[in-house]
Amino acid sequence: MSAKEVSKEKSMIIQKEMLSRHFKALSTAKETGKKVVYTFVPGNLSELILAFDMLPVYPEINALQSGMRKKSRDFIRDSEKIGYSEDVCTYVKCDIGMMLNGNIGPTGEKLPEPDLLLLSYTGCFTFMKWFENLERLYPGVPVAMLHTPYQEGGKISDEMVQYMVKQLKEDVIPKMEKVSGKKFDPDRLSEILGYARQSQDLITEIFNATKHKPSPIDAYFAGVYYIGPINAGFRGTPEAVEYYRELNNEVQLRVKNGQGPVTPAGEMEEERFRLVLEGPPNWTNFREFWSLFYNMGAVIVASSYTKVGGVYDLGFRHDPWQPLESLSKYCMNCYTNLNLPQRIDLLAKCINEYEADGFLINSIKSCNSFSAGQLLMMRTLEDRLGIPVGFIESDLVDPRYFSYSNIKNRLDSFFQMLDQRKIIQNQQTA
Ligand code: SF4
Repeated sequence: MSAKEVSKEKSMIIQKEMLSRHFKALSTAKETGKKVVYTFVPGNLSELILAFDMLPVYPEINALQSGMRKKSRDFIRDSEKIGYSEDVCTYVKCDIGMMLNGNIGPTGEKLPEPDLLLLSYTGCFTFMKWFENLERLYPGVPVAMLHTPYQEGGKISDEMVQYMVKQLKEDVIPKMEKVSGKKFDPDRLSEILGYARQSQDLITEIFNATKHKPSPIDAYFAGVYYIGPINAGFRGTPEAVEYYRELNNEVQLRVKNGQGPVTPAGEMEEERFRLVLEGPPNWTNFREFWSLFYNMGAVIVASSYTKVGGVYDLGFRHDPWQPLESLSKYCMNCYTNLNLPQRIDLLAKCINEYEADGFLINSIKSCNSFSAGQLLMMRTLEDRLGIPVGFIESDLVDPRYFSYSNIKNRLDSFFQMLDQRKIIQNQQTA
């Protein structure tokens, strides 16, 4: 690594300003009369929320921010004190703990109470239980639920789309009209979807850049920052398009210059291992976790986690000409709503197209939605592609389940295996 200081790129500054404006708007929502919607990242209806000029709050983003700011330990403890068991998803416990402590958001400003709880349910049962709890904690706040049919058969049928459009028309939109006091304007929604589409094109191009060698970015550790605006309510805005255009320019310049990813320790000088990674990251020890990879010259060239708010590399785009249908298809295409064979096929596609040397799973103790079936994924990919596979364990925001030495031991063995394979491959081609 070069010891040079990591300077802030223009895209980082744009993102910081966007997020700070958003949290400012949230903190003053009650004075400005803006209505606030609590909702989730997977299957989020950001464009619809924007069409009603409402502001979204994503509890799981607050939880991960609390994890990064070392606040989650106490929040989780406070939730456990009032009866949440050790097995409950730690995003939920962190979020409830944050509420019990005054609901102070990531920027230190108080988050407003919700005017609407919008549960768009996409494959993770915890979402339902989470919102049942929020409903109890915010009595009287209306709840709109959008039920997304699971892609059990690996296909989206017309009936499934119509089932969702009906819910949007008959339940979700009327509730939004009532809460916001505004009539639904389909033209406004179409305009917003047009921006969403542009952002989706750009983010796909950005993540595709990892096909280059060296990869100009880390698609997981830096990728979680890149998906920030598209997942945090900005997807259908001109600001998001500007952000992704700028980021894409920066990434393409790195490709042109043959540069590797920027890490907290500077620019990676040698790309030794290219990996595809399945599972969310650990947030409480994010830097330490990342260092276990960049210190070994390991770059994540694709990850399932960065597709949690939308799988765009398979071609899905919001469609301004079919607004409600495309909102429905978006929800059904979320990673957590794909069946296991679809997830395995997607990961296999990434391993092949991004020419990965290995496949790694970070299994999250408290996230059943990601963890279920991960061993099957690992064995299937190993058999199908003959690729070295590895398995590590941690948690989202509970620091009690991050063990640096355990993860390091497992990664050391995994990297040794990758090294050995490279030696054998080189001997065979020599
Ligand atoms: S269990 Fe996993 S997918 Fe479900 S809410 Fe928790 S972190 Fe999200």
